[in-house]
Amino acid sequence: MTPPDGRLTDALLPEDRPPKDACGVFGVWAPNEDVAKLAYYGLYALQHRGQESAGIAVSDGNRIMVHKEMGLVAQVFDEPALSTLRGHIAVGHCRYSTTGASVWANAQPTFRSTGKTSLALGHNGNLINTRELAVLLDGAGPGSSGITATSDTDVLTALFLADRAEISGIGADPEPDAEPGRLPGPEASQVESAAAAVLPLAKGAYSLVFMDEQTLYAARDPHGFRPLVLGRLDSGWVVASETAALDIVGARFVREIAPGELVSIDGRGVRSRTFATPKPSGCLFEYVYLARPDTTISGRGVHATRVEVGRQLAAEYPADADLVIPVPESGTPAAIGFAEASGIPFGQGLVKNSYVGRTFIQPSQTIRERGIKLKLNPLRDAIAGRRIVVVDDSIVRGNTQRALVTMLREAGAAQVHVRVASPPVRWPCFYGIDFATRAELIAGRLSPEEICASIGADSLGYVSLAGLIKATTIPASRLCRACFDGQYPIPVAEDDRGKHILDGLGVGSLAGLTRGQPSATTAVTSSPLTAARRPRRLSRRP
Ligand code: SF4
Repeated sequence: MTPPDGRLTDALLPEDRPPKDACGVFGVWAPNEDVAKLAYYGLYALQHRGQESAGIAVSDGNRIMVHKEMGLVAQVFDEPALSTLRGHIAVGHCRYSTTGASVWANAQPTFRSTGKTSLALGHNGNLINTRELAVLLDGAGPGSSGITATSDTDVLTALFLADRAEISGIGADPEPDAEPGRLPGPEASQVESAAAAVLPLAKGAYSLVFMDEQTLYAARDPHGFRPLVLGRLDSGWVVASETAALDIVGARFVREIAPGELVSIDGRGVRSRTFATPKPSGCLFEYVYLARPDTTISGRGVHATRVEVGRQLAAEYPADADLVIPVPESGTPAAIGFAEASGIPFGQGLVKNSYVGRTFIQPSQTIRERGIKLKLNPLRDAIAGRRIVVVDDSIVRGNTQRALVTMLREAGAAQVHVRVASPPVRWPCFYGIDFATRAELIAGRLSPEEICASIGADSLGYVSLAGLIKATTIPASRLCRACFDGQYPIPVAEDDRGKHILDGLGVGSLAGLTRGQPSATTAVTSSPLTAARRPRRLSRRP
């Protein structure tokens, strides 16, 4: 058995690898609040969006402190760690890697400093022109050079700290557009100015939360692929990936950060500027699987959408059966809707161990072979002798559903009818969701009839794309559906596809595209797991 090496693995359930989101982001500006704890609980609420690493950066107005580590939020932070993060601005992040390897250097928030200004940044999404952006750094000054990570996020961080006059091909800073009812825009900071200049050049998906010593910023790409919302505390402001995170920290929902909008929050209030023409293409898969059911996106509750998809599914693919069961948890609302519309009783047939996921422990072969049963176990009394409809949110590779059908038959099911609350996933995502390659997607290779035979079900039905879109109540023209229909809102060059486009150059080798030395950071403590090889907490006085 391989000993623990401090790296996260999902080999525990190799056949059960659901779609992975790119990350959760959270930011808070709130004098008189314990912002580190607010960020901690915000990240706790967003843990489903990324489980590889977590981090929080806090500014007290003069200095930014960062604490980040591989692992879940609850593994990374304890009371002593949080108590050292003092200030009134915080940026938090939980990561699943979609560009760059899952290593500490790529954990977020990223941190860089010019000596005069420091920046901490968290990113949800995936850029598709990272190489192009990295080349802009040539000549962009000491704070921006010497990329030491391999993520698109570190390239953005470096560009936001660069003197905009030195970034290749960027013109004068336009005046900010203060929105009606907002405080008038003061002179923009260096970071705000650079961000406003760089963001129109960034292609792909980005919901960003970042800060310098004085100001919290939030920005969303012109397509608004990933969600990002603004909330109000009694004495401050919050930005978060999902409304559920606002609820958990007691913030009131104010509005979504608009596609193409950059928001700045400090003692002078909230300022907004539009840096690009909005072309809304919100991710349809957020409604299927990614977002929490208690989150609202574009005014539509995710749970209500999923229940409606289940009703639609029952109308499109009815089944003659005795019991409707969900694949917990994300299949539950659609199963409720299916049962309501079909009149077939709803019940629990599978028990989920919510605590199985990525682990630092390399599993033994025996444990690996237990596969799906580590996560799902059937309720034999509920299943034996019955014709079962089992409702799942999506099928990616088909391995999980094949194991599930086998497990239900072994538990005595008379028939197993699989119903899926999304259309076949036929195309990969380049905007921040790590499904699989097209070759790995079972629906990219096989027809629904062939998939039914492959997983061994008595019948298989996918909700139609039109049915799913109708359930969201959002016009199709404002949604990205590319993983279902192959119509990508932004074309992606072959060279820019893939998670490890910067890894190929080697960690640190992007410095070869830039000039100068890496910015200084100060190691304050080290991780007990890997004390010899990495700084854990970073700070820099301006
Ligand atoms: S391709 Fe699919 S998962 Fe990716 S943004 Fe579009 S709808 Fe969402």
